[in-house]
Amino acid sequence: MLEYCLLDSGKLQHISESKLGHFAKCPFCLQLVVGKKGKIKRHHFAHIKHSCAQSNLELNSAGLAFFNDVSLPSLNDPDLKFFISCISTKKSFNIESDIRLRSAKERFHWQKGLNIAIEKGLVEIKEEPALYAKTAILLAIEGRLTLKDFFVCQEESITQKLHDIKKTSQPSWEALFRHHVYRLTTSSLYFLKLKLASGTCIYKIGITARDIETRLKEIEKELSMLRVSVQSVTVEFLLPGRGGIEQYFKHKYRAYKHPIGSLTEYFHFPSTSLVCSVLSELSRLERFGTNRRIAGTLNQRKQRKVAKRRAESKEDFLNKHKNIVEALSIGLPIRQVAREMKRSVNTVRKVKQLTDNTPH
Ligand SMILES: [Zn+2]
Repeated sequence: MLEYCLLDSGKLQHISESKLGHFAKCPFCLQLVVGKKGKIKRHHFAHIKHSCAQSNLELNSAGLAFFNDVSLPSLNDPDLKFFISCISTKKSFNIESDIRLRSAKERFHWQKGLNIAIEKGLVEIKEEPALYAKTAILLAIEGRLTLKDFFVCQEESITQKLHDIKKTSQPSWEALFRHHVYRLTTSSLYFLKLKLASGTCIYKIGITARDIETRLKEIEKELSMLRVSVQSVTVEFLLPGRGGIEQYFKHKYRAYKHPIGSLTEYFHFPSTSLVCSVLSELSRLERFGTNRRIAGTLNQRKQRKVAKRRAESKEDFLNKHKNIVEALSIGLPIRQVAREMKRSVNTVRKVKQLTDNTPH
């Protein structure tokens, strides 16, 4: 589904920033498209005439990256479905012991399912010859990854996809992908608690690139239009740079969705223990960033000491600041990178100078 359109100014615009029925161009074929914000399908741009093949490709299907398209068509294969149902409760499994229990017919489908799972990157060999484990992708599809672990895997997969896309795809794909990464890393994930007039508490997940106060006003207005009266709204979490988690959160907790009109980001958790586990997951995600930053600073200090004894090579320096290199390659300005990575402007500038001089 097409999530971006091309404006007359030449800029890409995401469907969430576009008004209903807004006309623009398809970034691939340049034909006219219109924004569709219906109740059932994910919001997208649709071609007025014939949609082009490229716009139908998923920017991020299958693997982790943005995790927009979770209903993988590959999971609809009956053999794969059967195989996954057999291993559903396990994280890893031994082929010999699992297959011995089954009938010849089941074994056949089990083996076929396993082969598809390996091919799709859902399962991998852990120990030769017969111990297999689910990959993060399959665990995410099953909703068993924690938000923090998902975030870690997503970061890795973004770097990998960026690398792949550079080699194989056209420039328009790369621009679209980079724009999306930029959108997610510059927006904040918010988690709100809404106490309704009836006394019930519901929760809302979402992302915003603006200040939360503005967003809260919009949300209250939206709800009052749907005649939902809210007693109070509390911001439980506001996590900068964690926009990529939204889709996974919706997927993981889909059983607790609490639709209001056409709005799909609301949740109702029926027990206190469930609320606690959601909050602690979000809090771990929040602390993870800080821990890493602390670890980063400690590292820096340690390395500063080492630097006195031995000058650092250029490769070592760039390797140490891989995340800065990545952020700069997306086109983020120096000051913003410094702020977000909690590094000095001078460090970021030095990384930029070194990467600019390095042939790719
Ligand atoms: Zn098109």
